[in-house]
Amino acid sequence: MASSVETLEFQAETRQLLRLVIHSIYSNKDIFLRELISNASDALDKLRLESLADSTVQADTSDLHIALEVDKEARTLTVRDNGIGMTRDDLVDLIGTIAKSGTAGLLEKIKESRDAATAQSLIGQFGVGFYSAFMVADKVTLRTRRAGTDSGTQWESDGEGTYEIQSVDGLPVGTSVTLHLKPADGEDGLADYLAEWKIRQIVKQYSDFIRWPIRMAGERTDADGNTTPTVDTLNSMKALWARPRTEVTETEYNEFYRQISHDWLAPAETIHMRAEGTFEYEALLFIPSQAPFDLFSRETKRGVQLYVKRVFIMDDCEALMPNYLRFVKGVVDAHDLSLNISREILQHDRQIRAVRRRLVKKVLGAIKDMQAKDAERYGKLWDQFGRVLKEGLVEDTDNAQALLELVSASSTHDPEKPTTLRGYVERMKDGQDAIYYLTGETRATVENSPHMEAFTAKGYEVLILTDPIDEIWADQIPDFDGHRLQSIAKGQVDLDEPADGDQETDPEKAQREADFAALLPWLTTTLSEQVKQVRLSSRLTTSAACIVGDAHDISPTLEKMYRATGQQMPPVKRTLELNPGHPLITALRTAHAADPDNPSLTEIAELVYGGALLAEGGDLPDPARFTRLLTTHLVHTL
Ligand code: ADP
Ligand code: MG
Repeated sequence: MASSVETLEFQAETRQLLRLVIHSIYSNKDIFLRELISNASDALDKLRLESLADSTVQADTSDLHIALEVDKEARTLTVRDNGIGMTRDDLVDLIGTIAKSGTAGLLEKIKESRDAATAQSLIGQFGVGFYSAFMVADKVTLRTRRAGTDSGTQWESDGEGTYEIQSVDGLPVGTSVTLHLKPADGEDGLADYLAEWKIRQIVKQYSDFIRWPIRMAGERTDADGNTTPTVDTLNSMKALWARPRTEVTETEYNEFYRQISHDWLAPAETIHMRAEGTFEYEALLFIPSQAPFDLFSRETKRGVQLYVKRVFIMDDCEALMPNYLRFVKGVVDAHDLSLNISREILQHDRQIRAVRRRLVKKVLGAIKDMQAKDAERYGKLWDQFGRVLKEGLVEDTDNAQALLELVSASSTHDPEKPTTLRGYVERMKDGQDAIYYLTGETRATVENSPHMEAFTAKGYEVLILTDPIDEIWADQIPDFDGHRLQSIAKGQVDLDEPADGDQETDPEKAQREADFAALLPWLTTTLSEQVKQVRLSSRLTTSAACIVGDAHDISPTLEKMYRATGQQMPPVKRTLELNPGHPLITALRTAHAADPDNPSLTEIAELVYGGALLAEGGDLPDPARFTRLLTTHLVHTL
């Protein structure tokens, strides 16, 4: 007996997505079956897990399976499972809406993508799973009953704007999805999905490793022409990770990867390992070739699933993979854990921690191998995941040196090609003891920053670091392979270079200090609100002034980042360095010597400071005042 029918509208994003899916974003329509089977398999995992965790759940888990049913007359294909099922609310939430963050932005990107491959790989990130049914069906009927509830729900839609929902009595626990198939070989060129051989072929190709039986009813005709009904299990159910490496083909690995990642592209790297001894486990890990769109969103989960003896335990197992390797996907099957193990216990389990250390080493080793073997492929990987890997420099001190070897950074050495730190060290000048770097928002601001001048003039290579995270790690990591990391915007610079003929002598330096003996303390007092000190610089060749931090000061960008996250902190005052050879600075000195009370001097001092701030890409505290002062003094000069 069916109750009244309610018609609901798909959420706007869902409608857009459906349209994209239906209008053949996927060139390979066969995959609809993989998606529905994967959902059914997940539902069986969930029921199994729930009944383990809570023995009061009234559900029969003795014969969990997936059944495929063909009705040639009605032209329907049904995928049935006796898994967890869904409540009415689940249905509306899970099937009627897309709850994932970043959906709207991703849809935009899909619409803008010019070729089908890009669109496919973008859409693959959604796990559009269920909607793919509408590629082959013009109507889909889903009936479901949640384990532990009494009544079931029917959901039906033609994939246009709306769906119908109603209560249905007498349904078994689990879900059935019935596809009313579009005509085969019609204008869409669809295969015949009612044909037994076709279904067998798709299951074998895409879903062989599903660990629940996928059954199909058929019939067998014997030599005498008698037909008997049969039920066959179509998949081998053998967990891919449990098989020896040599027996798994690349296609199988890639299919498995797609199943767990929803990624359309093949993985960049596959790591398959087995540990024997006191704590046995198998691990099958993948490094994707493309970063998911939500890699930096707060909700991003880790990609490693935990199994215990082939039984699925949990997704997003943070105990097995550090946050900075959250893009790694895969499965770890540990043999000697309780099925009821909790996340909290896992976090503190000594053996799990050892597994994690080993997995991290393996993943970093695989990345290192790629770096050594194939620079171009590595470059692509770094583009996708470099920013996340750099988080590890701060998070994972044990592996910081290994991660530093992976860092690929822009440098003044070759504007076209990034360098490794190792490459930098090999090019270091005789007597150079530090690795120089400068952070900033863009390559251009860094390259043109006054801090660069002396380094450029003397031919020292400087790393150009423009990721926000660079501010943090470069500051925290003391050295690479024994070479100090030194920001050229911090501390005193003394680029002594014995080979250079025009080195100034100590008496010259002393004379210069004497020349500025009156101006510097006056400036320090005048600008005391803005800076800690004013001193002469040896890092400038063309600019009049620049601002530098102390060796342990945080950089202005970092200061801004902390403020943006709501942290309270006192303003960090830095040091103003003057170029003693610059005409503006010498003129200022002369004017100050002639009349220390000249009111213009204070304004010029402010302009020098503001100009230095602008040159390094900083923000003026009062831009309107700066412009007013500048205008006034420009008028005087004309
Ligand atoms: P995904 O599998 O990536 O989450 P899908 O579109 O394939 O996306 O499915 C959406 C959600 O609908 C699933 O996460 C699941 O919660 C629910 N669902 C789909 N099919 C089933 C099923 N057979 N049994 C129970 N829940 C299901
Ligand atoms: Mg799915």
